[in-house]
Amino acid sequence: MVYYILSICLLRGNMINLLGKDENFIASVCAALSLPGYRARQIYGWSSKGVSVEDMTNLPLAVRSALTGAGYGVMLPEIAEKYVSRVDGTVKYLMRLGDGEMIESVVMSYRYGKTICVSCQAGCRMGCRFCASTLNGLKRNLTCDEILGQVYAASRDVGERISGIVMMGIGEPLDNYDSSVAFIRAAGNPDGLNIGMRHISLSTCGIVPGILGLADEDLPVTLSVSLHSIDTEKRKKIMPVTNAWSVEEILSACRCYFEKTGRRISFEYTLIAGENDSEEDARQLATGLKKHLGRIPLHVNLIPLNPVSERDLRKSGRENVDRFKRNLVGSGVNATVRRRLGPDINASCGQLRYSRALSERNNE
Ligand code: SAH
Repeated sequence: MVYYILSICLLRGNMINLLGKDENFIASVCAALSLPGYRARQIYGWSSKGVSVEDMTNLPLAVRSALTGAGYGVMLPEIAEKYVSRVDGTVKYLMRLGDGEMIESVVMSYRYGKTICVSCQAGCRMGCRFCASTLNGLKRNLTCDEILGQVYAASRDVGERISGIVMMGIGEPLDNYDSSVAFIRAAGNPDGLNIGMRHISLSTCGIVPGILGLADEDLPVTLSVSLHSIDTEKRKKIMPVTNAWSVEEILSACRCYFEKTGRRISFEYTLIAGENDSEEDARQLATGLKKHLGRIPLHVNLIPLNPVSERDLRKSGRENVDRFKRNLVGSGVNATVRRRLGPDINASCGQLRYSRALSERNNE
């Protein structure tokens, strides 16, 4: 029995995923397997919808066996755990990848449709002080099909089309640049998910070469920058990535992103009591954004901290959050306080994956 499970795992780990591959790739697979050319169109018709080889019902069994026998499949991550918020219907998934790594995805319901928050890495090496995703470091990058698979698996589970994507789950998308860009292209594929670039946001802790690279990809997605402080020295204490690129360098990359894409820049600002939530912090933020970005359209999303028990950080009180917002708006900076979705299911980044890893360690 153990050998049987082991061989399935090995097989799954070694399989080549056709999910997200273009028709040319599938045509070359068909040619290599001596299948007639028209099979490529049929297989692509299914694979671009995330349908497994076993379920490609218009293909003869011999063709399906030829594909699986040669190690090809259409694999989605497996839903290991699922939590549905009773407050607002937000659904949080813990998904298991082919090699057993766990990641998180969250589906949020808005008036205009469903949006998914996807993970780009198993773990994270950015070391932001307040974030649970980084507590056990980075395990590995996700492949394009593993990011894409989260959208298909969740969409199938909720039984509805997903029309928006935020790359704000576990990991840093620009630390896994190639897969993230390949994923954005694949998500826009009209034969597949067909999600418009305007409905995709990529959130980064501020990897400058990645922002500049993305600006040149001709993929006008919304860029969200997790700022959390506009003061380089202060930001270094919250986000170690600031040792590599100063706030000034990050904002100058944002300016370049706007100039190339014409897209408004979005900033995330997690409010941590006594660290970055004073009136002075708000004033500096407003002055700094105006100084570096001038009249470039921008928006600041204020996020009250969701405290992680391993870290000694507290969330700002409601009054401080409101005062911070008033100060920004009063200085002419667009700002809103992000509504906390799924408050009853701990929907913040990386907390589920981390608590799962802890309980597995305790059971050993
Ligand atoms: N690495 C990317 C995307 C993942 S984090 C980035 O840094 O942007 C997505 C957003 O959630 C970031 O703005 C991050 O700062 C915020 N975040 C992470 N953990 C949080 C927590 N415990 N409370 C509030 N916001 C958090």
